[in-house]
Amino acid sequence: MSGDVRERILDSIAGHRTVIISRHTRPDGDAVGSTLGLAAALRLSFPDKRILLDNADRADYLAFLGDETSSPSDGDYSGALVIVLDTATEARISGDRFRRGDMLVKIDHHPNLEPYGDINWVEDGRSSTCEMIADLCLSFPGVLKLDRRAASCLYTGMVTDSGRFRYREVSPGTLRTAAALLEFGVDTERLFAELYSESFQVLRFRAELTRRIRLTPAGVAWIKITSAFREKRGISLEEASNTVGIMDAIRGSLIWLVFVENGDGSIRVRLRSRFVEVERLAAAYGGGGHACACGATVHSVGEQKALLADADALLAGFKKEHPELF
Ligand code: AMP
Repeated sequence: MSGDVRERILDSIAGHRTVIISRHTRPDGDAVGSTLGLAAALRLSFPDKRILLDNADRADYLAFLGDETSSPSDGDYSGALVIVLDTATEARISGDRFRRGDMLVKIDHHPNLEPYGDINWVEDGRSSTCEMIADLCLSFPGVLKLDRRAASCLYTGMVTDSGRFRYREVSPGTLRTAAALLEFGVDTERLFAELYSESFQVLRFRAELTRRIRLTPAGVAWIKITSAFREKRGISLEEASNTVGIMDAIRGSLIWLVFVENGDGSIRVRLRSRFVEVERLAAAYGGGGHACACGATVHSVGEQKALLADADALLAGFKKEHPELF
C-alpha cells in the first residue's frame, strides 16, 4: 500500500515543474529537517524544476540547517505541486496558501486526523517524517538523489523526533535508514553540538526551573513559566518551551508537562509521557500530537488547573492498572 502511495507521489513530482514545500507552525527538527532535506533531494534530482518553500515562521535554534522561510509569490502557486510535511491538520500548516496549487500532497507521521491532501501518505507508526522522506529517497535511488546536505537535514529530524532514537516508534528499519544516511558523511559531532549545547544563561534558567518542578498527587510533574519570569531572565519563548525535557526522568512521574505563557493571554502546553498515552488528553484541550508527545493551548489558569487534574486522574488510573511499571 505505502509503496503504491510513494509511486503516486513520485509521479506527481515528475508531472509538475514547480514544487512548493510547507510544514507545521512552531517548527521542530523534524519539520525543518524534512522540508530542507526533501528540497535538497528534489533540487539534486530534478535540476530543471523550481523547488520553493513557503513557511511563515521559523525556529532560531535550527537556523544552522539553513533558511526555509522564503515566501513564493501567488503566481508561483499556479500549476504547482504543494507538499505539506509533518502536519496532521490544516490549522497547523505554516501558511495559508497550500490549496492554491494544482495538487496537494500530505506526508506525515501523526495520526491521520485530517487527510487533507489529494494524495495522503501517512504512517503514524514512523518515528519521524524525516524517516519517511529518507525512506522515499532510498527506495527510488535511480530517481531521487541524496547528498551530504540532504542526508544531514533528514538525519537531524530523525534524531530530534525520536529523542535520539529512544522512543517506542524507533524500529529496526529506523536504524537501517539512519545508517544509510550516515553513509553520505553526516557530521554527527557538529550536529549534536548544534542541537544539544546551550548558553550558560539557559543552563541557569533550567537549574532554577528544576527547583520549581511540582508534582500532582499521582505524580504528574509540571512547571509553569510566566512571561514575567522568563523575560526577567532574558529567555526566549522557544528556549522556555524547550525546557520540558528537564522532567523526563523522574521515577513515577510518567506524565510531565510545561505551561508557557505566550504573552497574548494564551498558555502553551507541552505534554510528554512514557508508557501512558496522552494524546486524548491533549485533544480534549484543542491539541494533539503523538501517543507520548503532544502540544495544546489553554486560555486561563482555570483551564490549566482542569488539564492538570485530568492528567493526574489519567496517571492515577494508569498506575492502578500497571503497578509493574514503577
Ligand atoms: P510540541 O510539544 O509542540 O513539541 O508538540 C509535540 C507534538 O505534538 C508534535 O508532533 C507537534 O507537531 C504536535 N502538536 C503540538 N501542538 C499541537 C496541536 N495544537 N494540535 C495537534 N498537534 C500538535
